[in-house]
Amino acid sequence: MAADGTLYRFLLYTVFIASVIVCILLYRVTAPYGRHVRKGWGPVLGARAGWMIMEFPAVAVITLCYLLSDRQGDLAAVFFLGLWELHYLRRTFIFPLMMRTGRSFPLLLVAFAMVFNTINGYLNGIWLFHLSSPYTLDWFSDPRFIAGIAVFLTGYGINVHADTILRNLRRPGETGYRIPQGGLYRLISCPNYFGEIVEWTGWAIATWSVPGLAFAVFTAANLVPRAHAHHRWYRETFPDYPKNRKAVIPFIY
Ligand code: NDP
Repeated sequence: MAADGTLYRFLLYTVFIASVIVCILLYRVTAPYGRHVRKGWGPVLGARAGWMIMEFPAVAVITLCYLLSDRQGDLAAVFFLGLWELHYLRRTFIFPLMMRTGRSFPLLLVAFAMVFNTINGYLNGIWLFHLSSPYTLDWFSDPRFIAGIAVFLTGYGINVHADTILRNLRRPGETGYRIPQGGLYRLISCPNYFGEIVEWTGWAIATWSVPGLAFAVFTAANLVPRAHAHHRWYRETFPDYPKNRKAVIPFIY
């Protein structure tokens, strides 16, 4: 496949610019899903279907970049594909199937997320399998790779652990909210978001790539304002909410 550097650069700039806009907007208008769902955002579908549909392009597009590449034997790039799918196969299929929620999900948000996941999958896939100088086997012993993978796996572990604590707050069929306890919830309201940000920061370091950086920046731009909204909601909803908890960055914010 002939990789188009012009489209790649255009989309890369778009993600950085969109990150700034999204961050500002989300501090003003909280995305209307989960506890912040409200009427007036158009047609909706079930949260489970919404998650599967909107995350699927993240699974598929990078795989397509791999399949259309003549670098299928590049072990380091294939390793990165494995890490990506470790996250996205869980997020696309396991997370929605196991979630305990009765809420709906606006189609508008599903559409936005599909567009982002398509662009993001394309940027990272086209970089790994077409545009980067091939990652050689030496990359496995490069300090950037080793540090980045350690950060990625730490973030992944935090994210999965935090999501699991949330899921176990409800018995099957329940839809209410409780104060999460344990793990990083001792320090912050949204360790799942913190883990996600750490994870993609690790990806950016390990791949040492601008698309990786763009993804990490966008993730923070999306999730920090949402963590702020969750944190405020917890404090308003539960009078006994722990006072020392921060929103998303332990001890800081
Ligand atoms: P939330 O923390 O809002 O909710 C996660 C799940 O836990 C939902 O099913 C929610 O139910 C339930 N839940 C949350 N808090 C409580 C509580 N106090 N008591 C009982 N149940 C609770 O996360 P999101 O849905 O926003 O995100 C889910 C995952 O997706 C996270 O791991 C996040 O990091 C990731 N994500 C990544 C993004 C990125 O940009 N890379 C963007 C968005 C999400 P309900 O739906 O009913 O509120």
